[in-house]
Amino acid sequence: MSGAAERTAVVVIGAGHAGLAASHFLGAASLDHVVLERGEVANSWRRERWDSLRLLTPNWQNRLPGLRYDGPDPDGYATAGEVAELIERFAKACGAPVRTGTNVTSVRCADGGYAVTTSDGEIACRAVVIASGACNLPSVPRFSDAVPAGVEQCTPLRYRDPGQLPDGGVLVVGASATGVQLAAELHRSGRPVTLSVGEHVRLPRTYRGRDVLWWMAGSGVWDQRWDEIEDLTRARRLPSPQLTGTPDRATLDLNALTSMGVELVGRWAAVRDGRALFSGGLRNVLALADLKLERLLGTFDEWATAHGRDADVGPPERFAPTRVPPSQRLQLDLRGGEIRTVVWATGFRPEYGWLDVPVLDAKGQLRHDGGVAGSPGLYALGLPVLRRRKSTFIYGIEDDAREVTDHLARYLAASR
Ligand SMILES: Cc1cc2nc3c(=O)[nH]c(=O)nc-3n(C[C@H](O)[C@H](O)[C@H](O)COP(=O)(O)OP(=O)(O)OC[C@H]3O[C@@H](n4cnc5c(N)ncnc54)[C@H](O)[C@@H]3O)c2cc1C
Repeated sequence: MSGAAERTAVVVIGAGHAGLAASHFLGAASLDHVVLERGEVANSWRRERWDSLRLLTPNWQNRLPGLRYDGPDPDGYATAGEVAELIERFAKACGAPVRTGTNVTSVRCADGGYAVTTSDGEIACRAVVIASGACNLPSVPRFSDAVPAGVEQCTPLRYRDPGQLPDGGVLVVGASATGVQLAAELHRSGRPVTLSVGEHVRLPRTYRGRDVLWWMAGSGVWDQRWDEIEDLTRARRLPSPQLTGTPDRATLDLNALTSMGVELVGRWAAVRDGRALFSGGLRNVLALADLKLERLLGTFDEWATAHGRDADVGPPERFAPTRVPPSQRLQLDLRGGEIRTVVWATGFRPEYGWLDVPVLDAKGQLRHDGGVAGSPGLYALGLPVLRRRKSTFIYGIEDDAREVTDHLARYLAASR
């Protein structure tokens, strides 16, 4: 490493809520650090969200270390612009030493610590916190290459509003929060919408009169720790729940979508001769999501009774099973003009092209144990079920960031 490189104890990569939460606790521990951000503070909320997006988490859950929601609408759902403002306010409140417009192009091991190369020079440090986001790139299946050229393809990171797409039918792929929200919006724009449904998480917006995320937080489901979850790999791959944040607190499950006129088909498995081929297992996928919802509601009910909360909430509810389409299509000719656009709501993945430390698995995911990566002094925040089920949510960062930075501080003290 060149003797001229700038030195600091810790480099945090990313000024989203996760990187800033790390900065809050590093600052509180008087640890010298910088937060490097390739764009602006809250860049993802400013550049990578569609126009109509509102959080699916209620405002009272927009809490960050030292910052609690104190606005007039605790049960409302913030717009992307409001989230960017919140994160900007948080960055100022914790005095985070953020350098915007600073792209990290390489992190490698050097001199018992790390050399971080940026668009603005090199920094030598003893520890790195990777808070560069879990959703940098869309996950699109390889067979997208075989979609006929006359059909446009779009991902949620590029999608802004329906006007951007050609008129005509849309095939939305994936029934997570993103998929159901975009299917509803595109259907409302007058386009016929087909939704390809794989494994999904069905949730009502409210249960027994309370927001379902009140139940997730209160009952302890969201606090389940990574080292107590039986199938962690599976938990980390679970799609986001079918929720949307609208003023009427409407449920946006598959029954709501079919009532609007959205057509459901099974998981998209392949493209052959210009035809999309769908799995015939839709009935099973729907039944599984219904069963999991039943179990979750049972967990909520047990918690309410055990903690004397039954009087504070409405009576237990059960929801109609998801309706199976009477005649489900197994293929769709993509050359016939019925589908003009495919929207890949098939999830996101992080981007680590700049990470020159051997800590990625064969799928390019960071290997870590509760945010502690397999290289001393290397940490992560903001990844799915990092230390708890709530880890990727704004509401979940405080506990994770406190514990990860505690570990980091102990590591620095021990290795000094
Ligand atoms: C569509 C969508 C909807 C969501 N809705 C909700 C919701 O309703 N409620 C909720 O709580 N959570 C929600 N989330 C989850 C989560 O809150 C967001 O993904 C949030 O942006 C994650 O924060 P973060 O700080 O981990 O990552 P990000 O906000 O992505 O921040 C990472 C930062 O790192 C920067 N960066 C990346 N690579 C580099 C590099 N090489 N050099 C320098 N900087 C770099 C990026 O520019 C970015 O600013 C949603 C996520 C998505 C994708």
